[in-house]
Amino acid sequence: MSHPIAGRITFNLVAGILVTVVTVIAGVVWMAYRQNDQAAAQTRTMVMGGIDAMHTRVQGLANDYSWWEEAYDAYQRGDAAWIEANIGTGIVDTQIADFLVILSPDHQVKYGWWTPPEAPNTASVMSPALIGKIEDLIRTAPVENNAARSSYVETPAGTLLFAVSRIAPVSNASSVDPSTLPVLAMGFYLNNQRLSELGRSFLINDLSLEPVKANETTHEFPEIRDIFGKVIGRLVWTPPTPGFAVLRNVVAPIAGGLLIFCLIAMWTVLRARRLALSQALSEQQAIEAARTDSLTGLTNRFGFNELSASAAFEEACARGEAAIIYLDINGFKSVNDSIGHQGGDVLVGMLAERLSMILPSDARFARVGGDEFAVALTGRPALDAVAGVASAMVHALDQPFTVTGFQFQVTAAVGYAVSDGIDVSPEELLRRADLAMYQAKNAAERDAVPYHSGLETGALHRKRLGMALRGSIEANEMSVVYQPIVRASDLAVVSLEALVRWDSKEFGRVSPAEFIPVAEETGAIHDIGKFVFQRACQDMVDWPGLRISINVSPAQLRDPSFANDLGAIARRHDVVPNRFKLELTEGLLVRNPTIAKRKLARLKSMGFGLSLDDFGTGFSSIGYLRQFPFDWLKIDKSFISELGANPTANALIQSMIALGDAMDIAVVAEGIETVEQLQLLRLLQCEYVQGYYLAKPMPAEEITALLARLGESRRILPELELPSFEPGRSALNLQS
Ligand code: C2E
Ligand code: MG
Ligand code: MG
Repeated sequence: MSHPIAGRITFNLVAGILVTVVTVIAGVVWMAYRQNDQAAAQTRTMVMGGIDAMHTRVQGLANDYSWWEEAYDAYQRGDAAWIEANIGTGIVDTQIADFLVILSPDHQVKYGWWTPPEAPNTASVMSPALIGKIEDLIRTAPVENNAARSSYVETPAGTLLFAVSRIAPVSNASSVDPSTLPVLAMGFYLNNQRLSELGRSFLINDLSLEPVKANETTHEFPEIRDIFGKVIGRLVWTPPTPGFAVLRNVVAPIAGGLLIFCLIAMWTVLRARRLALSQALSEQQAIEAARTDSLTGLTNRFGFNELSASAAFEEACARGEAAIIYLDINGFKSVNDSIGHQGGDVLVGMLAERLSMILPSDARFARVGGDEFAVALTGRPALDAVAGVASAMVHALDQPFTVTGFQFQVTAAVGYAVSDGIDVSPEELLRRADLAMYQAKNAAERDAVPYHSGLETGALHRKRLGMALRGSIEANEMSVVYQPIVRASDLAVVSLEALVRWDSKEFGRVSPAEFIPVAEETGAIHDIGKFVFQRACQDMVDWPGLRISINVSPAQLRDPSFANDLGAIARRHDVVPNRFKLELTEGLLVRNPTIAKRKLARLKSMGFGLSLDDFGTGFSSIGYLRQFPFDWLKIDKSFISELGANPTANALIQSMIALGDAMDIAVVAEGIETVEQLQLLRLLQCEYVQGYYLAKPMPAEEITALLARLGESRRILPELELPSFEPGRSALNLQS
């Protein structure tokens, strides 16, 4: 299976390994080349130094034979015998040099000796041109000790390295005219034997003099020029490569190291990839499952709410091309009672199938409750047919169903609403269809009921409530009660939900469910909200360690100064926001997700915890859980009241808990009224519970007394036995 997370992890792995391998290899190779370069430069310096030493040696020799009083005298005397005995024989016998020539001041070769004997004769080498050059070389040299000059010349027998110097009378050298002195030239062949001896002294085996090829441009090796200035060759050797030697030695360990690194990296990342994949998969599966009704395969309430909250449906509503049909089965309870839930399930399946057949192909058909169905229709043709479809749904049940040999007759209450294009949101359309369905339930005639404004009642009553709400705080009619929220595993009280109470002089006690919507309409909700929060700040001083849940209406959240006001009140009472959870319903999230996201992020950053209240009713898009930073979700009490009695409710609760698990959101179940509900929720591993069975909402003093009674453990209902449940949730079959 391919998944973006897997793709990203694989890419990172391959890139990481490649970068590491390439970096290591490039680094090692670079180091080897650098070492080679350094060694090459070093050898070049040594070779040049060796050549310089050879020049110094040949110059020293020439100096020894020319800065010599007796030799000068013998030359002046023309004493050939003395010269042969003291100079020539020495050259031939000792082979101290390969040749020695003495030139007269007028450039004639006077004496010449060569070794070995097969060397060229003096005349063929000592051309007038060479003698002229020798004169040029020596002309600038002073007549003194150590004034010899050296150069090269090519001969048929090889390249000669030689030095020249004037034979001078040591005693009065400064007073003689240099041009009257004879010149001595001597030296030796720069043959490959000599060169390789020289090379070996600095560990080069193959130092040699090679002719320069035409167009050769390399300057790596030094050139040798003869006395005429002509390039006669190049000193060539194989540069040492210590870098490569090191490279050869480290290749195996580095390759091994890299291999081990790659294996470890691959192993680590593959593991991470598998983990990420399975997590993404289980989240995906949880979401899929949460959208589908397992019994009929139809979309369930979540899925339907998501659909109706979708942009496409909203646009269809705005265009006046959307309709909702609600259908509620009557008489279903007697089916369950007579043939059990399993039989009831079979009937639901048959019902869904029969209803599906009469719906247009593009209708979205959903099972939104145990015996409640809903249809969403969009588009002009579908709308024109909606009355007919709704009516057909009623009459589809005229024929009885046969389940396990028994015949059952059920009826359906069907209501529907069509968007008229003027200010009808999907939420409003759902409400209208719901209202129409309730009308159908109570109607005498068995037919589908369309929504009409006549169904709206109590408008006047709401107006009077709104008036009475004004000044209710000042009149001390408002108070706050607290209901414990309990950890399911050990029934310890962990937090309290603050709930407002209104004891009106005019109407008596009015339920918040009735007056809060009116307060939202008139704007009184802002003052009520601040009153509750302030009261909670005061009361909670007596309950260290407990968090307080505060209900927040969408209208309050829309108020730009809401977050600042809460912050200021908390500061004034010296309470940290971390001790509060704000309970929100989805209203604002649906209408204005971008603004809501910003506001929630702000509250969160101030330290407030966020809880999604009444989850499962309204729009409850699973998308909200992912988009908004909720820490808790509260499963609405309408699900809990059906727990155990209605398999669909069980399945839905189970998927909500799984959803919370998959998204790392704590799940609270509210409205627990019986011990069976409590134990079932514990069995389903619901983390927190709240309800009349555990504790009713009570005034602050009663909470303080209760906490004192419960003591350290804060455990509520100590007499209740708490079987500990081990997981294996999937093995549970709550429907049987
Ligand atoms: P809610 O936030 O879902 O609060 C839970 C409601 O369920 C409360 O009703 C609580 O008394 C009730 N309840 C708790 N346990 C059980 C049980 O076991 N069975 C049944 N049937 N009900 C149970 P209440 O106090 O009437 O509040 C109704 C709604 O009014 C609240 O629903 C909340 O949405 C709103 N409300 C209450 N106080 C405030 C408030 O201070 N500010 C705002 N904005 N809304 C509030
Ligand atoms: Mg609440
Ligand atoms: Mg609630």
